[in-house]
Amino acid sequence: MYQAPRGTYDVLPSQQPFWRYVESSLSNSAQSFGYSRIDTPIFEDTNVFLRSVGLETDIIGKEMYTFQDRGGQDLSLRPEGTAAVCRAYIEHGMQNSTLPVRLFYYAPMFRYDRPQAGRYRQLQQFGVEAIGDSDPALDLEVIELAMSSLQTLGLKNLRLVINSIGDTVDRPSYIKALKKYLEPHYESLGKDDQKRLEVNPLRILDSKDEKATKIAEAAPKSTDFLGSDAKQHWESLLKLLDFAGINYEIDHKLVRGLDYYTRTVFEIQPLDQGAQSTICAGGRYDGLVETLGGTPTPAIGWAAGVDRMILNLLKEEAGEVPLPSPPITMAYSGESPKMQSISIARLLRNADHTVTLAPQRSLRSQLRYAASLGSKYVVIIGEKEFSEETVTLRDMDAGNQTSMTLEELLPALSKAKK
Ligand code: ATP
Ligand code: MG
Repeated sequence: MYQAPRGTYDVLPSQQPFWRYVESSLSNSAQSFGYSRIDTPIFEDTNVFLRSVGLETDIIGKEMYTFQDRGGQDLSLRPEGTAAVCRAYIEHGMQNSTLPVRLFYYAPMFRYDRPQAGRYRQLQQFGVEAIGDSDPALDLEVIELAMSSLQTLGLKNLRLVINSIGDTVDRPSYIKALKKYLEPHYESLGKDDQKRLEVNPLRILDSKDEKATKIAEAAPKSTDFLGSDAKQHWESLLKLLDFAGINYEIDHKLVRGLDYYTRTVFEIQPLDQGAQSTICAGGRYDGLVETLGGTPTPAIGWAAGVDRMILNLLKEEAGEVPLPSPPITMAYSGESPKMQSISIARLLRNADHTVTLAPQRSLRSQLRYAASLGSKYVVIIGEKEFSEETVTLRDMDAGNQTSMTLEELLPALSKAKK
């Protein structure tokens, strides 16, 4: 027996209404802030990710689905959205449009991650990118959009954690101080973190190893090493967040798992669960567009894990998910009535009703079929109705039925809809 590949899942018809609700709620939130949807291909030239995300990161180091196509081109399934969106921004000359360009995406990503609850190999992300402005007000905007789209969806009890990791030029002196602090702890670190101390000590700060987390508590803070521009940006952002009444916690261990971040980084976590279950993560990436071959362009964005949102929604039993209305069932007995039912079904669908044709069985079994679908109305056509050019409309909840002409059917159903 075949199974869906490890770390993937099917979204079954019964779960679709929920998924549609999540997609449209998130999209509406983004649109209400003036963001437009962008869809990029599921795979990209591998270099788009290699160049931007960083060689020492989890994503590039061990999670990418990379392959050569039959023409020998190196391609990768998209592990994250930002690099692909920036590639599209440059390719389509968006720097010539009104800046900042505000974009959002709702798309599957692919990572060879270790599957567990809330961690998949095909994962769904909702993300936004605001490209072309360095104003801290834009940082506030995307953070506010993140909080409000999660809250509108029905997630409560969220914690916003922020930090500033400064500009690329501020990084070397901070990394030097960090290394100096961490080196005496070398023996206490796990193998992975010992390696990180050599290649990318920043990564130790967001290590998932408990010992490293403890050691990192007292590590030097990146916010003490900011250059004057980055410092001003950081202080302005904190003022703006206070002004907007958005609660936040500053966590100097927050550095984010991708190399392209500069200045502001942030995460949104469920209050009761902490960093392992981060729902939304993002930050500034002022150097990324240039790294990918564009002109220097400040930008900021975030990505949120839809799978984790859904897990938390189910846990919080938040919000009523509007279910689609059950179909009107067409029941019939006899060949000509059946043909007539098919025609009337078409008529009703054209008037925006959902309609299914009952399977050819006894009338009684067709009514059972209608009940099992949750149909509130059944339109019955037997030989008698057919010859009289009428239909019988059965109200399943009330358990009564009314004979009417075809002309009367549509108004009767529309009235019933309200
Ligand atoms: P983690 O530290 O949990 O691996 P990450 O830093 O790799 O997260 P990002 O690249 O920032 O995650 O992705 C943004 C969001 O996407 C995460 O906060 C999370 O909600 C979601 N996400 C990341 N990886 C997965 C996955 N394998 N399965 C489901 N959701 C994921
Ligand atoms: Mg990860």
